[in-house]
Amino acid sequence: MARHEKSMRISIKTRFFLSHFLAVLLVSGSIGTYFYLSAVDSVLDNLKTRLMNTAAMAALSVDVTALDAVQNPDDMGLPAYTATLATLRRLTSSNPDIAYLYVMRRSGDGVRFVVDSDETDRQAPPGRAYPDAPAPLLAGFEAASVDDRLYEDAWGVFMSGYAPLGGSDDAYLLGIDMRDTEVGRKLRNLRISGLVSLGLSLGLAFVFATVLARRINSSLRLFVDACAAVAEGRGGARVDVRTGDELERLAAAINDMSERLEENEARRAEAETELMRSRDELEARVRERTGELSRLNGLLVHEIEERKRAEEALFQAAMTDSLTGLPNRRAMERHLEAQAARVARGGRPFAVLLCDLDRFKSVNDAFGHEAGDEFLRATARVLETAVRAGDMVCRWGGEEFLVLLADTDLQGALAAAGKLRRAMEELRVPVGEFMVTRSISIGVSVCEDCRNLDEVLRLADEALYGAKDLGRNRVSAQCPHGDASGPA
Ligand code: GH3
Ligand code: MG
Ligand code: MG
Repeated sequence: MARHEKSMRISIKTRFFLSHFLAVLLVSGSIGTYFYLSAVDSVLDNLKTRLMNTAAMAALSVDVTALDAVQNPDDMGLPAYTATLATLRRLTSSNPDIAYLYVMRRSGDGVRFVVDSDETDRQAPPGRAYPDAPAPLLAGFEAASVDDRLYEDAWGVFMSGYAPLGGSDDAYLLGIDMRDTEVGRKLRNLRISGLVSLGLSLGLAFVFATVLARRINSSLRLFVDACAAVAEGRGGARVDVRTGDELERLAAAINDMSERLEENEARRAEAETELMRSRDELEARVRERTGELSRLNGLLVHEIEERKRAEEALFQAAMTDSLTGLPNRRAMERHLEAQAARVARGGRPFAVLLCDLDRFKSVNDAFGHEAGDEFLRATARVLETAVRAGDMVCRWGGEEFLVLLADTDLQGALAAAGKLRRAMEELRVPVGEFMVTRSISIGVSVCEDCRNLDEVLRLADEALYGAKDLGRNRVSAQCPHGDASGPA
């Protein structure tokens, strides 16, 4: 907008004003000039006719019959001269437009004054030549004529009318000089009225151009304001122009555009509101779903923990002997493998003690299966208590228990086995009024390089058989380097 205003040199209002002003001025000026010139012509024509007629009328009052005698200044005393002079001066005084009246004679040597009404010392005496007589004057000897313009001579600037005088052989004429001031006054009057009419034309042109320029400018301002509003994206601006021409059509087009813009704005605002509402709804739904998901996630985490606990419990159950609460055979096998791998990697050797209750069947037989179970539980407690913290006791099966002694060689294993065997000798399990006791036989084997775990277990089993064979309640060892057995 600013750029446009900057590049705008002459406003449309000014151009409109100037063009109308000049147009009206040209038309009224042309018409005025035409009428002025016509009036000037008409005034001059009128003047000439009057001069000519006055000359003709005045010629009737002059008698030239005796004027042939008036030839030079000496003749000024002749009655013909004085009578004619009196006539001329009377006629002059009776008409204020007339400056001088005079009678001229045309003879072989040119045109000469005969009588001149001039009452000053510049009066032309009879016989005074009038050189360079203009054509209208010469024509005046034949018929009434008049100057076609102002002529200047020794008496000033005049316009003259001429009429021939009859009654003489020589050619005489009567001349009337009208002062240029008289002609000028009439022309000046005309000029003044011409100027007044020019002034009126100017005023009219100014008023007309101003009114038109203001009208178009007020419409244009409305258009500019409406277009600016449309450009800024504001709808609803209206241009109220009722000129019934292209401007009104332009206004209708702009109003239409503005109305559509307003509609579009309303639609856009509606869409924006709808969008915001949808967004809020979506956010609410996302919040709701997030809450639901987080609740489900909590449930899932809880369930996973529950499941882990259940798995752990299951694992523990799978690895535990239900009767005694000791690790079962599967748990011991895992532990054995881990220990064997450790030894294979260069770790210290471990020992296994395979313990079997002596003549246990008779406990069941004598006191019942329940009593046998109770004795098995008591045995488990004794064995657990008798070993070190890093050792492991399991129920290997039936009335057999396997003990793994970590970081233990054969000597240490025999000592530990002896301790277990003696601890079992101490065990008393009350059943009714009886105290049940049972000894234990132990087969010892040591895994020193542990290339074959089954071999270690087999040797322990063999050692156990050996202990049974030797009478039970004993410790027997089977080692690659030699065997050992005894009550120890
Ligand atoms: P030995 O000195 O030769 O080992 O004689 P034993 O009677 O201990 O051996 P045998 O193999 O003949 O009998 C083992 C008995 O252990 C048989 C079985 O009734 C009993 N037994 C095995 N498991 C259980 C158990 O879980 N509970 C009870 N009460 N008895 C069991
Ligand atoms: Mg057995
Ligand atoms: Mg037994």
